Amino acid sequence: MKANKRPRTEVGRIRRVAITGGTHGNESNGVQLAKHLIRHPALVQRDSFSCTVLLNNPASIERNVRYCDEDLNRCFSLADLADESRNSLEARRARELNAQLGPKGSEGAMDYVLDLHNTTANTGVAIMCSPRDPLSHALAAHLQTKDPSVRLILWHRNTRDYPLLPSVAKHGMTFEVGPAPWGCVVGALYEQSLNLIGHALDYLHAHNAALESADGAGWPPLTLTNPNRNPNPNPNPNPNPNPNPCCRPATPNPPLPVARLARGLGGRLRQHGQTRLPARCRR
Ligand SMILES: [Zn+2]
Repeated sequence: MKANKRPRTEVGRIRRVAITGGTHGNESNGVQLAKHLIRHPALVQRDSFSCTVLLNNPASIERNVRYCDEDLNRCFSLADLADESRNSLEARRARELNAQLGPKGSEGAMDYVLDLHNTTANTGVAIMCSPRDPLSHALAAHLQTKDPSVRLILWHRNTRDYPLLPSVAKHGMTFEVGPAPWGCVVGALYEQSLNLIGHALDYLHAHNAALESADGAGWPPLTLTNPNRNPNPNPNPNPNPNPNPCCRPATPNPPLPVARLARGLGGRLRQHGQTRLPARCRR
């Protein structure tokens, strides 16, 4: 794999989180969850980050329809966000949300967006996210420890510019639950979702706490060596001895003298550094 093709795996501290509902206005389970969290902000606050809760498409929520002009959850590609000629209600709302949650792809974007949806399909709880979002993968794994019915579904791998709302943030997921009829709240799914949202926020806080506990100095560069191949494994005094016996500081090992190598093989040095092997080895 070429270096520039490698997925970004470094995950920094999470400082700003958004929980959103009503991207699709008739997905009332998510809409009512978001409204509940707006009414009870203490439920989403954690010491290590701020959390905003908002409704994404108020016009479609008002009409209890999936969308008014076009699907809002297909309006967040970089090209569409930059196209000021797009004038549908959802295209304009997408630009507003991008200004509030993004801008997409920028350092100022939200660290995490959790977007609440529901479906009539029997999905149970499905976490949908980018295949290149290791934080969301770890978060999904954590949620599975709390609720084994949670499933992880990865977005299509063939694109890096998803048109989906969570893609405006540095990390994010679509939180899909079902079956729930359009315009209805299903009590069991609602309660299950509320619990899992709490666990998700706890996980992000624990992620921050782990980073906070690091000393910030970083571990010195290491190289793996086989101590059996080095007759003098630590020729230079190391001010920070490594407690791991399999790892040595990145001090280059002195080259093994060719003469010693030859003697070790029981032979003699020949021209071009070749070694004459003893007779017992030449059979
Ligand atoms: Zn939806």
